[in-house]
Amino acid sequence: MASLRILLVGNGGREHALAWKLSQSPLVETIVAVPGNGGTAGLPKMINNTSVAADDYPGLVELARKERLNLVVPGPEAPLVDGIEGFFREAGIPCFGPSKEAARLEGSKTFSKDFMKKHNIPTAAYENFSDYEKASEYLRTAKHNVVIKATGLAAGKGVIIPETQEEAQQALKEIMLDKTFGSAGDEVVIEEFLTGDELSIISFCDGTTIKSFPPAQDHKRIGEGDTGLNTGGMGCYAPTKIATPELIARIEREVLQPTIDGMRKDGFPMRGCLFTGLMITADGPKTLEYNTRFGDPETQTVLPLLESDLAEIMWACAGLPLLHRVPVKIKPGFSTTVVVAAPGYPNSYPKNIPMQVGSAPDGTTIFHAGTKLSDGQLLTSGGRVIAANATGKTLREALDKAYEGVKLIQFDGMYYRKDIAHRAFRKSDATSKLTYAQ
Ligand code: AMP
Repeated sequence: MASLRILLVGNGGREHALAWKLSQSPLVETIVAVPGNGGTAGLPKMINNTSVAADDYPGLVELARKERLNLVVPGPEAPLVDGIEGFFREAGIPCFGPSKEAARLEGSKTFSKDFMKKHNIPTAAYENFSDYEKASEYLRTAKHNVVIKATGLAAGKGVIIPETQEEAQQALKEIMLDKTFGSAGDEVVIEEFLTGDELSIISFCDGTTIKSFPPAQDHKRIGEGDTGLNTGGMGCYAPTKIATPELIARIEREVLQPTIDGMRKDGFPMRGCLFTGLMITADGPKTLEYNTRFGDPETQTVLPLLESDLAEIMWACAGLPLLHRVPVKIKPGFSTTVVVAAPGYPNSYPKNIPMQVGSAPDGTTIFHAGTKLSDGQLLTSGGRVIAANATGKTLREALDKAYEGVKLIQFDGMYYRKDIAHRAFRKSDATSKLTYAQ
């Protein structure tokens, strides 16, 4: 196998985690991050490159040719939905990421719901609407509580869970008539509100074979006890307590395998990372959404549990479909990530706050997201600034170490939730088959 010279597109915590793991691979010679962040800048084999914009796809192909890069890893959803894979396919450079057609599973919620229905993948009952009047009438007559979803990419904000008919009608008007999310609101999905425990599964796919990480649980809200505004994600832990081997087998049988089989049969095989969001209801697992890329902060949580070589796995998915031959071995134990945000996030927040980060002990890793280096000084440059991850034999150990890791981070006004993984410790889960040393 050739030595890998990788182009990594993106600048978040997810990309730092990908770079961190890839840089450990003996197969990797160099990684060029466009644009990268203050964390990727300090890794071995890494070069941050800001000479090309991350959405200038012809420019990225030119850079890849010039630097003899032979594997492309797009991090965020936008380049995938834009079709970055096609630009590199034409140039003959393998891409660990789906085609534009396959990325519709994330880029269009109406498309993804129709796909689930067609392939009998369990999901909430729903209707799609492109006509405001019809959608409004449906809301008036719906017999169940509803969730309203703008079809397109809306930075995680396009899902509304209304509590009253008035709120539902208001949300519909804002999405479809006022165009709060632009063209992402041209169509909406209105679906049944589900209750249960949520989990996310990150899987590697080569079009035919799918191999997954243990399920993770994110914390979307800014406030403790899951209150306040939605964010990109304030923390995460894995494996989740409810994910018994039986449940995981059921999700693989009913959701994951039918998804990649369906994508292949429909002519857009899934190559890259499939992220599946699930609600575990009293009737079993129901699919909430697909992302066709790594989640953030799930990636920072599951990659430290990966014993196998990430570069080898990505190469097996992006080139010839060879994932069946490559091990995806997961370490025993638990992993926890605590995200540290700028003051004010997810509303407006200041940037360029000077920060210090101490060196982390073994088993703890600091992943940068919204940071940058300026004349040797580390500064904040985003809302979710940085995260501390730790692994441990028990969830409690991983959690305590992650919070110790947070103490290594210092900047004015830093905010983090102090209750990450709280659902794993609640009493009602005492009957779970997985045992936690607490
Ligand atoms: P999505 O982007 O479709 O995963 O939705 C974002 C979040 O909204 C999910 O993580 C859930 O917390 C919530 N959500 C989405 N669909 C439903 C549903 N049908 N019932 C209850 N909550 C939902």
